[in-house]
Amino acid sequence: MNYDRKRAALIRHICKFKEGKKFSSQVVAALEKVPRHLFVKPNMLDSSYDDRALPIDCKQTISQPYVVGIMTNWLALEPHHRVLEIGTGSGYQTAILAEIVQSVYSIEFHRPLADKARALLDELGYTNVLIETGDGYHGLAREAPFDGIIVTCRVEEVPSPLEVQLAEGGRMVIPVGPEQQQVLFAYEKRKGRLKVLERDLVRFVPLLRNG
Ligand code: SAH
Repeated sequence: MNYDRKRAALIRHICKFKEGKKFSSQVVAALEKVPRHLFVKPNMLDSSYDDRALPIDCKQTISQPYVVGIMTNWLALEPHHRVLEIGTGSGYQTAILAEIVQSVYSIEFHRPLADKARALLDELGYTNVLIETGDGYHGLAREAPFDGIIVTCRVEEVPSPLEVQLAEGGRMVIPVGPEQQQVLFAYEKRKGRLKVLERDLVRFVPLLRNG
């Protein structure tokens, strides 16, 4: 199977997905580079360049490529940025971020997923990624503040530690709300408060808590 051609076709498809909502050239370049077929389960290889979420281990999903594109785009990343991701999952979104910025910190609730993503990203040569197992609700205070925070699981409301750990002028992209009414928001922190920049309707798996 020619994965490079399939990937190129997928990117052409998602770039014209929504009229007037173009992805930046750095986001397109990252999507073009990262081999999504290596992040899916072997029995899903044929679907790896379909524009949809696919099942991964621990009853989780690898996000839909269009959603990865729009979330990354909304972060308005610059090469010197330090980014926090909550919900490593397969590590695919992590790799997209690592293509663009200096350092990526990613927290995953399920240890098997964190271990697998770390091994794959190591193998692919990403030296600017740190993956930790834990409850991402608390963020990663010791590395804060972050220029960007991306949450790839749904929350009922923005976790306050994440709000605190976002730098002034930084952006947070996060799906918020009850399961049936969740909205993907892009916020910017201005004068210590989160201001809504963008919103879209998208479905995510929930953020999990212990106990
Ligand atoms: N970006 C990932 C999406 C994975 S789905 C990808 O494209 O592969 C969301 C992920 O969030 C799941 O892996 C889930 O285990 C993780 N998650 C759920 N609750 C979490 C929490 N409290 N802290 C960290 N990760 C969490």
